[in-house]
Amino acid sequence: MDYKNTMRRTALWTALLAGSAALSCAAAQAEAPAAAPSVAVEAATLAKIREAALQSDWAYQRLADLTDLIGPRLSGSPGAAAAVKQVADAMQKAGAEVSLQAVKVPHWVRGQETAQLVDYPGRPAGLSQRVVLTALGGSGATPAAGLTAPVLVVHSMEELAARAAEVKGRIVLFDVAYDQNLADAGMSGAAYGQAGLYRFAGPLAAARLGAVAALVRSVGGADFRIPHTGATHFSDGLQIPAAAVTAEDAMLMTRLDARGPIKLHLTLTPQTLPDADSFNVIAEIRGSEKPDEIVIVSGHLDSWDLATGAIDDGAGLVGALGALETIKRLHLQPKRTIRVIAWMNEENGSRGGQTYTANNRALLGRHFAAIESDSGAGRPLGLLTSIGADAVGLFKPLQAALLPLGAAALTRRDVLGTGDLSDIERGGVPIFEPLLDNRTYFNYHHTPADTLDKVVPDNVRRQVALMGMLSWYLANMPEPIGRAASQKP
Ligand SMILES: [Zn+2]
Repeated sequence: MDYKNTMRRTALWTALLAGSAALSCAAAQAEAPAAAPSVAVEAATLAKIREAALQSDWAYQRLADLTDLIGPRLSGSPGAAAAVKQVADAMQKAGAEVSLQAVKVPHWVRGQETAQLVDYPGRPAGLSQRVVLTALGGSGATPAAGLTAPVLVVHSMEELAARAAEVKGRIVLFDVAYDQNLADAGMSGAAYGQAGLYRFAGPLAAARLGAVAALVRSVGGADFRIPHTGATHFSDGLQIPAAAVTAEDAMLMTRLDARGPIKLHLTLTPQTLPDADSFNVIAEIRGSEKPDEIVIVSGHLDSWDLATGAIDDGAGLVGALGALETIKRLHLQPKRTIRVIAWMNEENGSRGGQTYTANNRALLGRHFAAIESDSGAGRPLGLLTSIGADAVGLFKPLQAALLPLGAAALTRRDVLGTGDLSDIERGGVPIFEPLLDNRTYFNYHHTPADTLDKVVPDNVRRQVALMGMLSWYLANMPEPIGRAASQKP
């Protein structure tokens, strides 16, 4: 999950957990005029898909192949290229029609990344202290031998603006905490949105004021002194060294700064290489009656390079792959085309989503709906969607079929802004996402700890069931569901 889209979602999380159950049925009752739900999509078929998914580990095995045979899959890397082939082969074997869509992706490569506190009040002579950090995606580089500079510690954009005159020639540290209380209450997306702003926009703001480098407190929970990477945004030719320090090191620097001036020696040597050639992997079952009407079911294939992208976004991706594999294995033939997409470059540029939308701009009217899962590997609780309020009632039969999974909640918002689908949504396509329990998602998100052991196999089976039932329902329902609420006249 990248930051830009998270902000659009924050409002969602806030509303969501203020009692999603109440919200969902209230939304269903309050907003949906009594549209007659279709019985065309038999409950028996939905149940068959659910049970077939719950009894299969095909998707979990695909996840293990991705994390354990390939591992990191940052755009432009050999791992990303190998993942394209691995997923294309697996979907071919599952009987899908597979094609590769060319995408030009940014090619940023991590380098050396170290830092030491070399001066601070009360420092015993000859001592320095190690700071644990990792470069942010898009970061510029220090000289090979590093740079030494005083650190300016701020806790908000307002404080940065108020101390603008002190920034030139310094390293700016944004020490802004991830709100663990929000996360513990199930609002981890909101917590991520609030603190993520500093990762995404802080370094550029500091660069504009003449900073020589920027550091941000890691955006995520857990207190094991591990750094959380993620993309940062530069423009106007401004690109300075930028890194995420661990929460523990941010707090240390704030405490030392309260005693007096501190100095840091920072070495970051990433490379920003020319854009690389890559691909979205597309695998589909052509519709029997309305083949040119498309239901997208998707997740992103790339991951950060610090670990194996098991929860971001391996689990979501195999949820999508498994949905199609289950429908194929049951020899079911949908009326509309079900198109699985493994997006490239969600983490640092969203070029995969942008390229697909640009290539299909004239066909978006034929896209019936689009689904993406990119919020971890937690237990499914229901659906999020940006269909119009008048269409909510049409999903009651699906909600009934999802009840045995404990995933019958349905929450609607005008805009979801889901990662790779945000351009498609702006093009009017209604969006769906699985609503997952993501209370601990940001403990491992974008860290060296995003590994397969963090994934509960039963949750993958449940995610496949939900994505399989939802894509089947959308591919067969007779009623039109209209366009994304945000695009309604
Ligand atoms: Zn992601």
